[in-house]
Amino acid sequence: MKIFFLSAEVTPFAKVGGLGDVAGALPKALAELQLDVAIFMPRYDIIDLSHHPVERIPIPDDWHVGINYQDHRFGILKSRLPGTDVPVYFLENNDFFYRGGIYNGPGGAPFSDEPQRWIFFQKGFLEFCKLLEVRPHVIHCNDNQTALIPAYLRTTYAHDEVFRQTAAVITIHNIAYQGVYPSDTMQSAGFHTNLFYPESPFELDGAVNMLKAGIYFADLITTVSPTYAEEIVSGPEFGYGLENVLASRAGNLFGVLNGIDDTVWNPADDAHIPHPYDVDHIEGKLANKKGLIEYFGLPTEALHDPIVGVISRLVYQKGIDLTVEAIYRCVHLHDNVRFVVLGSGESRLEADLLSLARAHPDKVSLYLGYNNGLAHMIEAGADIFLMPSRFEPCGLNQMYSQRYGTIPVVRATGGLADTVREFNPEQNRGTGFRFTSLDPDDLLAALTRALHFYRDPAIWTILVRNAMRMDFSWRGPAIAYKYLYQKAQQKAAS
Ligand code: ADP
Repeated sequence: MKIFFLSAEVTPFAKVGGLGDVAGALPKALAELQLDVAIFMPRYDIIDLSHHPVERIPIPDDWHVGINYQDHRFGILKSRLPGTDVPVYFLENNDFFYRGGIYNGPGGAPFSDEPQRWIFFQKGFLEFCKLLEVRPHVIHCNDNQTALIPAYLRTTYAHDEVFRQTAAVITIHNIAYQGVYPSDTMQSAGFHTNLFYPESPFELDGAVNMLKAGIYFADLITTVSPTYAEEIVSGPEFGYGLENVLASRAGNLFGVLNGIDDTVWNPADDAHIPHPYDVDHIEGKLANKKGLIEYFGLPTEALHDPIVGVISRLVYQKGIDLTVEAIYRCVHLHDNVRFVVLGSGESRLEADLLSLARAHPDKVSLYLGYNNGLAHMIEAGADIFLMPSRFEPCGLNQMYSQRYGTIPVVRATGGLADTVREFNPEQNRGTGFRFTSLDPDDLLAALTRALHFYRDPAIWTILVRNAMRMDFSWRGPAIAYKYLYQKAQQKAAS
């Protein structure tokens, strides 16, 4: 079975969040199941290919993508996912992708031709398949940037020989991002404008909605945890307006929990942390905690006090306002609890965190920005990890945390509910602490339970070991996707 995996981000080439991690890891796990999988992504200027083997695929001069009666030429580079044989194809066009960023430029503002960039990416992929006569059995689309592919396969490309046996699967990594654009985007995309009318597959609230089209036309829809799959059909709070189209396709919607790349996130072999450790040698964790304390210039006595880590995009979704409130209350309630926060995002949330860090330099350390190495150091050096998301399709950091023996305190929503079990001291089962409401008192109660058990080293060690023994690898999820690919193919053929 030939699978093409399309994504706007792929680790280690270009990543903003969890999508990049998934796109860099799931194809590897699929290849281990003997599937013939390849990745397709844009060639951004921010991608450093100097350490990767690269070959250029010749493209004839007259081969191009048309958008709004303008022809755009493209190049194709081919490399490999490091450490694997999985091919990675990069779609090259400097006008669209040499912008200093993936979704936004360095200043953070979205690009004015955003829909055209993603239309170009998707049509470029389809034209590439035609040129090379690649006949994918399944195109696995991810999020709104690739959500028009299922629509193309059923409309403008419906009679192309190369796609005769192609099924489309779309994975929703976060339904809050839908690709919503003005109605003339239909023309840019090359769809007949009579496909756009109130409640048509392309329309929501008067605008073109790319994700809606993807959900409507895909053979199968998946999302990244079983709980999120239930939440997004339950109503507008989680479905963000797409709950009805999802409900209409409920029989074809599946929740498959993301895995983690346990070769990249492995405390026993992690180039970013100075002291490797594993479940039988957890002493190494304390040495990493010492390194983290030194890195942030926290007082040395912090070594024997609890450190709470936060690594996140600083946005509403992640409940960072609750985090701010929890830190504020904690530093006033407890003398010895410390926070290390890594993230960047909304300026108001950044400012709130900054003022807490300035007011309590011995208790709150903050790194505003993106720093992958530091993310690994925090996972290794912190004791507790806080993730109070409003909604969380899957979430990766709570899984990384468990693997690094850093006990998660989470709001029980989406993938957080599926991956963190409340610790039960009678049975010594469970790996973290959960709360359900958005009330800061509930968050604080869960954090207080964690701090309570931290005081008992024997129990804490059991908890840390429970967490580190969890298997969040991609093996199980990859088997589920293989099954769904077969199912999608049967559907497409019927
Ligand atoms: P989302 O995709 O919604 O941002 P996930 O938990 O699924 O959330 O994935 C977030 C990923 O991005 C994790 O790999 C996390 O470590 C990483 N990350 C987020 N913010 C930062 C940051 N400021 N520096 C380094 N890594 C970050």
